[in-house]
Amino acid sequence: MIYADNAATTKMSQAAIDKMVSLMNDTYGNPSSLYRFGQKAKEALEEARETVASVIGAEPREILFTSGGSEADNQAIRSAALLGKEKGKTHIVSTKFEHHAVLHTLAKLEKEGFTVTYLDVHEDGLVRPEEVEAAITEETALVTIMYANNEIGTIQPISEIGRICREKKVLFHTDAVQAIGHLPINVVEQNIDMLSASGHKFHGPKGTGFLYARKGIKLSNLIEGGAQERGKRAGTENVPAIASMAVALKEAADKMEQTSAYLTEKRNKLIDGLSKIEHSALNGDAEKRLPSNVNFCFEGIEGESLLLLLDEKGIAASSGSACTSGSLDPSHVLLAIGRVHDVAHGSLRLSIGEDVTDEDIDYMVKSVGEVVAYLRGFSPIWRDLQAGKKQFIL
Ligand SMILES: *Cc1c(COP(=O)(O)O)cnc(C)c1O
Repeated sequence: MIYADNAATTKMSQAAIDKMVSLMNDTYGNPSSLYRFGQKAKEALEEARETVASVIGAEPREILFTSGGSEADNQAIRSAALLGKEKGKTHIVSTKFEHHAVLHTLAKLEKEGFTVTYLDVHEDGLVRPEEVEAAITEETALVTIMYANNEIGTIQPISEIGRICREKKVLFHTDAVQAIGHLPINVVEQNIDMLSASGHKFHGPKGTGFLYARKGIKLSNLIEGGAQERGKRAGTENVPAIASMAVALKEAADKMEQTSAYLTEKRNKLIDGLSKIEHSALNGDAEKRLPSNVNFCFEGIEGESLLLLLDEKGIAASSGSACTSGSLDPSHVLLAIGRVHDVAHGSLRLSIGEDVTDEDIDYMVKSVGEVVAYLRGFSPIWRDLQAGKKQFIL
């Protein structure tokens, strides 16, 4: 079996599992309690905060633990919107290919009276900094643009966007869920005001994440209750999971260069192999993409059937976002980069992990080729394309 869906979630690292189990056994106190059981848990929590902060160049007090990337996105965007509104600013700049945790939060804010500019993403899967700059007005409260896209893996010019936002004195949030632990990040050097992260995308546990918010930015609560997390996120902290996430992040950061070089080589090999399939195309820039991400469109086929047949061959892949599977609409990300409906339907995302081997890559190339040919064999669209009744796009 080959697990090639690391953009959806990752296997926990052994060190992260060990940390979690050890804390569950020995450090079960409530970190808000004053006796030693509690204080020991509090220490583990603060150690995790220091670790996480150090990986992104932040201060520990700028880190708020959440239940994951979605919660961090919601809280960052809502907080910035409220801060803007207090100053009469009700405009937000974002893009068309954000994660649904961002897009759906923005859609709610639009119903509450905010206006949102959704920037186009170019064919290469990249946002242009000058277009971000042009979209900012006197009314802009927030710019929220993802660091790396979860479907096509393209890496956005975050440093340039950060510089523009700082110059224009507009808050800048980035959903860095796909980037953190995989790409170097420094929130100070990159002028990032708020950043969302999720533990399960870098070999930590599911249901963990954090929000970085630069000191001085007043966050508003999504969850009211006790005074945990400086009063900004009520509820007893999941200390074993948080500590485990910190271990996973540190581990990923420490071996990032090595992992990245290894994966880039394997990814390029996979891209080369799949490019040989006729009427196919890589989605997103070939270089400015996550070392783990490969995303293709194959003309004349349907993504869902491709996935089921690959599963039979022992390959776990995705057609894009886990959130859109089960829906008949093609991916909003592929539509955003200009793929037409028919083509966008035939998409495949393979997100490889550090344990991938050259044999795995060869097997994936061979299997995808076989499955695409098989499906095209009884596809009416493919027949029309072959007969010249329809024009090939790819
Ligand atoms: C996975 C993901 C999220 C959601 O994170 P959860 O921890 O699953 O809530 C948000 N944004 C991006 C880009 C993601 O890939």
